[in-house]
Amino acid sequence: MPELPEVEVVRRDLDREIVGKKIKAVDVDGMRAVRRHHNRKQFTSRLVDRKVTGVDRRGKYILCRLDGDDVLVIHLGMSGQLLRTKSSRDAMAKHTHVVITFTQGGQLRFVDPRTFGEMFVTPAGTVEKEVSELAHLGIDPLETAMSWEHFGHMVAQRQAKLKPLLMDQKFIAGIGNVYSDEILFQAGLKWDRMSDALSQQEIRRLYRAIFETLQDAVKHRGSSLADEQYVDLFGRPGDYQLHHKVYAREGEACRRCRRPIVRQRVGGRSTFFCEACQV
Ligand SMILES: [Zn+2]
Repeated sequence: MPELPEVEVVRRDLDREIVGKKIKAVDVDGMRAVRRHHNRKQFTSRLVDRKVTGVDRRGKYILCRLDGDDVLVIHLGMSGQLLRTKSSRDAMAKHTHVVITFTQGGQLRFVDPRTFGEMFVTPAGTVEKEVSELAHLGIDPLETAMSWEHFGHMVAQRQAKLKPLLMDQKFIAGIGNVYSDEILFQAGLKWDRMSDALSQQEIRRLYRAIFETLQDAVKHRGSSLADEQYVDLFGRPGDYQLHHKVYAREGEACRRCRRPIVRQRVGGRSTFFCEACQV
């Protein structure tokens, strides 16, 4: 499932590629990807002849601002991909649900084999009403500038194990199973340490690890995992998976101490860590 860095890479690509473009036509295959609308026309008619004026992100939701008051909201879900094609004659990928054609040429296509992702159009002011989790979203580590003292205060107020705390969308937006493991390795902290029992030095390490790991992942254009679908707007995989220190590296040598990385099942999820480097 794409996490914050992957969605941010797609947002930046969209910002460069579709801002200023006018929508000429929209084709929708089935209702699944646009299920918040009553029918296809209710979705397509609000897009045709509109111009994209900007691309924002709220957590893992991409918001394409349109002239007028509406936004096109896109959520990639588990396996969604957005693909920019230069020509409408480019071969159509299987599971293409929505095709947006621009007046200036080229298309934006939404491909989603598992269809947990979606697209919908809504007035800008109602996005939080449509997606209630956005009304309670925690800090965005790629957007929010925050002092480590303030962060330390937030962490200490919660009495939670570190991994579930990092994955709590009301605490920090967009971190899932991959980046929580990578951040905790980077911080040298074990997943089940309690957030209200960290030293000042440990809080500082955790703070730095969150921002550095996610920014580094964006720089490497995200993680494309073996069994998953993430690619950028041009269909290219990211390469941050090659730099993972612990995630999916069970039995392989720790890059810091050479001991084998351990996998533990916690609450139905795999957690990867080094027993020596993370305490
Ligand atoms: Zn180690």
